[in-house]
Amino acid sequence: MSLQRPTLEELPVRGAITIGLLTTIAILGAQAVEARAARYLIEKQLDAQHLEIDSEVTAFEGALADATDSARRYAATISYRTEDLAKEQGALQTFAQRDADGAWRTRRDLFRADVDAGVWIPPDVSLTDETQRFFLRARRQTALFGQGALNDLFVDTWTLPLTNGEVIYFPSAPEFIYDATAKLDYRDTEWVQLTSPVQNPTGEPRWTSTSYDPAARQWMISVVAPFTKDGQWAGAVGHDILLSKLFSTLLADRTGSSQLTPYYISKADGGLLLRDGGVPAVDERLPAEFQQLIIDSSDELAPHFQVFGEDYLISSRLPTLNATVIYRVDGAQVERALQVPLFRLKLAQAGVTALVFLLAYLWVLRDASVRRRRQEALFRQNQALEALVTERTKSLTQVNAQLEQLMMQDHLTGLGNRRMFELALNTAWQRDLRRQGTLAVLMIDVDQFKSYNDLCGHQAGDACLQQLASVLASSIHRADDVAARYGGEEFVLILPDTDVYGAKDVALRLRERLQAAHLPHPGAPSGQLTVSIGIATIVPKVGVEPYAVVRCADAALYEAKQAGRDRWHIADPLDACGAHVLTN
Ligand code: GH3
Ligand code: MG
Ligand code: MG
Repeated sequence: MSLQRPTLEELPVRGAITIGLLTTIAILGAQAVEARAARYLIEKQLDAQHLEIDSEVTAFEGALADATDSARRYAATISYRTEDLAKEQGALQTFAQRDADGAWRTRRDLFRADVDAGVWIPPDVSLTDETQRFFLRARRQTALFGQGALNDLFVDTWTLPLTNGEVIYFPSAPEFIYDATAKLDYRDTEWVQLTSPVQNPTGEPRWTSTSYDPAARQWMISVVAPFTKDGQWAGAVGHDILLSKLFSTLLADRTGSSQLTPYYISKADGGLLLRDGGVPAVDERLPAEFQQLIIDSSDELAPHFQVFGEDYLISSRLPTLNATVIYRVDGAQVERALQVPLFRLKLAQAGVTALVFLLAYLWVLRDASVRRRRQEALFRQNQALEALVTERTKSLTQVNAQLEQLMMQDHLTGLGNRRMFELALNTAWQRDLRRQGTLAVLMIDVDQFKSYNDLCGHQAGDACLQQLASVLASSIHRADDVAARYGGEEFVLILPDTDVYGAKDVALRLRERLQAAHLPHPGAPSGQLTVSIGIATIVPKVGVEPYAVVRCADAALYEAKQAGRDRWHIADPLDACGAHVLTN
């Protein structure tokens, strides 16, 4: 096992699935975010366009509010009290003169063309005191309304009294005055109706409905306010406004950064005022698919967008006109404006996705490494455990072997013990039974050892037995021969596959070596340690127990003792219980 990092191929399936899943989630998330971001950015752009529209609509409404304010101030200015008139007698002559055509006009020395407004009075209008007073007051109006920006806005400024037919007309179309006469009764006009206390108890300026002026070929709207005489409603004053002039502020040329093109202006009932970005429309209706862009007064605040092919439509309310202006936003320009932020977003998303992939990969790699390390640790633990078990088993075997040896060994002499003797006897018996060989057993007993102990002491006796044991061990040569301590100072030799002559040779050799060892025995007649030996041989047979040969050898030993010791006797091999005695 190695501790190298796992390669990509080695990563488990689980890791691959994890990386795949996380990366897929990141990509799907990025796509969802991108779609949302695109929608958000488009809405933001449309909102920005809406803001631009709002500012234009505000300017549009501001101009109309100026007109409203102007009408209010005009009405206040020309409202008068009878008692005040007396103070201003003769003022009209100062201000106006009757021209050759019979009309009263502002005196030329007082009239500044293109700055002041003139005053025309139809020839048949009788200049009553009241009329004169009216003009006196109207003089101020020339300063108020006859100049500046308002001149562009107010096409006609009228004063329509309920009686006497006074008509004040401020010029943009002077010839129009000739149509007005003192006999005209204005009470049925929308102007006068809108200013009546019944319809207009607060006396605030009101706006008429938009109407198409065929002569001017454009839409017109008027603002009117009541004026009073001695606190009583005396008639209406107000301004006519040609909408084309005002619309031009909404329809301003927007080449350059702006993406807006005015598309329609529609009344609340769907009747068109303007179509195709600037053409006045008469008796035309907004196409049905755009109806939902019309904003009524209840949802004025809600943004109104509509997808229109590749483009977008935005609408905004014109409250004074009770109309809606609809703009077309160039979709291609919106797309272009989206490109940079969307590209940045994509870049960021690619970065995030790559990061997610990298983190997932690192995580999986780490996971795999951790698992690999765990496996390696486990493997090493197992190895250590196996080594330990092997070592323990080995030492256990050794201990067992030692134990077994100890169980078989005589602790004093190091020869086999009685138990070992019995096992060896059985083994040799079985072997010679199979081969029908001759098994020889020599029983050896130290002569007069009791007296040895008595004379030399028990410890010297032990040492003597140890020396005798090594003599015994050196007397046998074959691998299968066994020397064992039978008990006390008695020993036994088991000689498999050895006939009586072989056994005799061993006994002879044993005695020679004992003599050569010169083991002293103070109690013995020769002064040396001697042994008596009983020899028995047998060809094992089925039905005969192995111990029979031992008994024979023991009997032969007995015979040797009886015969005077320091000799051997051989038991008769034909008689398992008896012994033939051969004297050496
Ligand atoms: P015999 O010639 O008839 O065999 O005479 P013996 O004295 O050897 O007689 P016996 O067999 O009766 O006595 C054996 C003695 O051997 C008795 C005991 O004191 C002694 N003996 C037996 N085992 C040991 C031993 O392990 N160490 C010592 N020092 N003496 C032992
Ligand atoms: Mg004995
Ligand atoms: Mg003895």
